[in-house]
Amino acid sequence: NLTNNATVRVLVVECPSKDTQAIKDLLSKERDPAFAVEGVSSQKLGLDRALKGRFDVLILDETVLKTENLQAIETWTQKVPALPLVVLMDAENKNRIFDIKKKGVQDTLLRSEMSARLLSRVIGYAIEKKHSEIEMKSAANMGLDFVSLVSHELRAPLAITKEGVSLVLDKILGKTNLKQQQVLKTARKNIDRLDQILMNMLDISRIEAGKVALKKQWFDLMDLMKQVSGSLDARIKAKGLALKVSSSREKIELVADKKRIFQALMNLVGNAVKFTEKGFIEITITDKENEIECSVNDTGVGISKDDLPKIFGKFQQLGWAPGGGEKGMGLELAITKAIVELHNGRIQVESRLGKGSSFMFSLPKEPRPRMKKN
Ligand code: ADP
Repeated sequence: NLTNNATVRVLVVECPSKDTQAIKDLLSKERDPAFAVEGVSSQKLGLDRALKGRFDVLILDETVLKTENLQAIETWTQKVPALPLVVLMDAENKNRIFDIKKKGVQDTLLRSEMSARLLSRVIGYAIEKKHSEIEMKSAANMGLDFVSLVSHELRAPLAITKEGVSLVLDKILGKTNLKQQQVLKTARKNIDRLDQILMNMLDISRIEAGKVALKKQWFDLMDLMKQVSGSLDARIKAKGLALKVSSSREKIELVADKKRIFQALMNLVGNAVKFTEKGFIEITITDKENEIECSVNDTGVGISKDDLPKIFGKFQQLGWAPGGGEKGMGLELAITKAIVELHNGRIQVESRLGKGSSFMFSLPKEPRPRMKKN
């Protein structure tokens, strides 16, 4: 990684000595990051060094490739598969760039265009490219698809961004005025929103790939419900809505994946809050003989007859949120349905435009496990 200030170690193999010297000279002035360049005169020596020392990047001269018909690249990628490769070449051989890159070289550099800035950029790019190639490969080996990988990768820089915004917002770096606070608050809210979208994308692709295993445990659904209403309390109050929770019994215990059921309830009740301006949200939990039934009713905008059959599909954003509420990606109901179905349960919806919606799901009862697991 070029951004962490460590010295980047460059191995230059079989380049004409004046080029090796030029690379050394040009990079010696670079500071952020700094470079340490070592030159060796033959492929064999180079391999030896690469296997022993820890280098961040390899610069190979094109002449090596001419004589050995690109075989040299294969040797390198096989012997030191994690080492990024840059090939130094002449402008007149530009037409070979495509073939060279296809063989596994991360980037090429024309001798005539060599400058400190370009060199350091090409090296940085090669390292990053290799890094993501390795990551992609290991993701593929783990069976993760592209969407999962990308959403996963995007969450890390987003977390750093949020941390930065929070540092300023929490006045750790000094005073801020009201206007700045407002702007940063909006920024942080949107970072959270984006993160939620990424998590949902990651989630749905894992679920669809059959990669989600339930971690079942014994718990009280009413207790969980309290956590859900607690989490949404501020939003419910802010909109002047009422939340009513009723149940057939004080405690309703079941065996299920607690985190996943929490997520499903948060999605349903969260939507009810989002799409309701006036009135109330009513949650009813019923302990039946073979199953537990839960319904979430609201007096909100409702869903049209035409839209109802599409509601649990992916990327469905059908209605409008009153007050121009935050847009998601239409994934949460698809995830909710998947969660219920992973538990062998059922979910359905009834709604009338302008009157309100009612989402109901049921979870089959399972025998209480003999060993308590958390
Ligand atoms: P998102 O991930 O965008 O929140 P959801 O999958 O949760 O999307 O919901 C998809 C769409 O279903 C919403 O954009 C909205 O049009 C509709 N919808 C969901 N719940 C309700 C509700 N309680 N009342 C009215 N419309 C709803």
